[in-house]
Amino acid sequence: MSETSPRLRAELEGIPTYKPGKPAAAGGPVAYKLSSNENPYPPLPGVMESVLATAGSFNRYPDMACTGLMTELADRFGVPVSHIATGTGSVGVAQQLIQATAGPGDEVIYAWRSFEAYPIITQVSGATSVRVPLTPGEVHDLDAMAAAITDRTRLIFVCNPNNPTGTVVRRAELERFLDRVPSDVLVVLDEAYREFIRDPEVPDGIEIYRDRPNVCVLRTFSKAYGLAGLRVGFAVGHEPVAAALRKTAVPFGVSQLAQDAAVASLRAEDELMGRVGALVGERTRVAEALRGQGWTVPETQANFVWLRLGDRTVDFAAACEKAGVVVRPFAGEGARITIGETEANDIFLQAAETFR
Ligand code: PMP
Repeated sequence: MSETSPRLRAELEGIPTYKPGKPAAAGGPVAYKLSSNENPYPPLPGVMESVLATAGSFNRYPDMACTGLMTELADRFGVPVSHIATGTGSVGVAQQLIQATAGPGDEVIYAWRSFEAYPIITQVSGATSVRVPLTPGEVHDLDAMAAAITDRTRLIFVCNPNNPTGTVVRRAELERFLDRVPSDVLVVLDEAYREFIRDPEVPDGIEIYRDRPNVCVLRTFSKAYGLAGLRVGFAVGHEPVAAALRKTAVPFGVSQLAQDAAVASLRAEDELMGRVGALVGERTRVAEALRGQGWTVPETQANFVWLRLGDRTVDFAAACEKAGVVVRPFAGEGARITIGETEANDIFLQAAETFR
């Protein structure tokens, strides 16, 4: 038998695999995971009950149309069911979006640094990434992004708040930018951290999309709703976009457990948003304490803070880990630290002060 391997697509050469945040070391004295922007709170009892009730039906496929969840979302956001599409996490929906819009020869624009999945899913599709550097203040450079649009541009990601900097795009500048985007180019407002925003000048993408058929909003149950392990996200966009997303979805990609837990979470929103409020309070405390230690901390509206550390990044992450908290280093650039439980945040602040 010949030893040749099957022919794989050339575009896949050199694509890094998606790197999850490092887990906390097992068996360490105290080890908190502040590396994946997860919610530190365990599931609400009501959400657990809904999942346990579904667990007896593992032998069945889930409802492929996510009927209950779609209806609940439509109600919650005041949009037609036909404007919603679900997927396996919002990263799954982002992949569906690229598949629906871009292929070889097409261009996908996004800010950089931003969510690390954008380059990977773009390259997998065969399309070309156009990265537009953040400004020195770590925010989206929307003028430069508008200037980067060509006849080949098919998709633009605006990550608001931006991962990993936590910085935001405000209403007036976003509207000005959208006015400059040709109507046949889809703009995705990735609002994975939407619920943590307290700046009233940051627009709600679901209000923006209503008058703009080329805008689509990406949301997730992984962050504020605390369901990262269940993999459920969704997009809100006009009917042709949402319909295309349903075509590019993995069939039965959202498990029944995930659907039921998402519905239960929407119904327990008051309690969940109370937890989000506590995390926002911790965010303010951590950012102010860091500034008090002399660090430059960009204004964050997400559940994490960003420290630009340059070539000290890896050493910083190692020092944090030694102290008992795992953060997310981007070698040569900086570290992203998730806001966690108070004790974890305190350990992190102590480590940051010692390192400085
Ligand atoms: N968008 C952004 C900006 C993110 O930071 C993340 C998670 N790191 C996602 C999307 C994907 O989250 P999920 O697939 O869990 O919904």
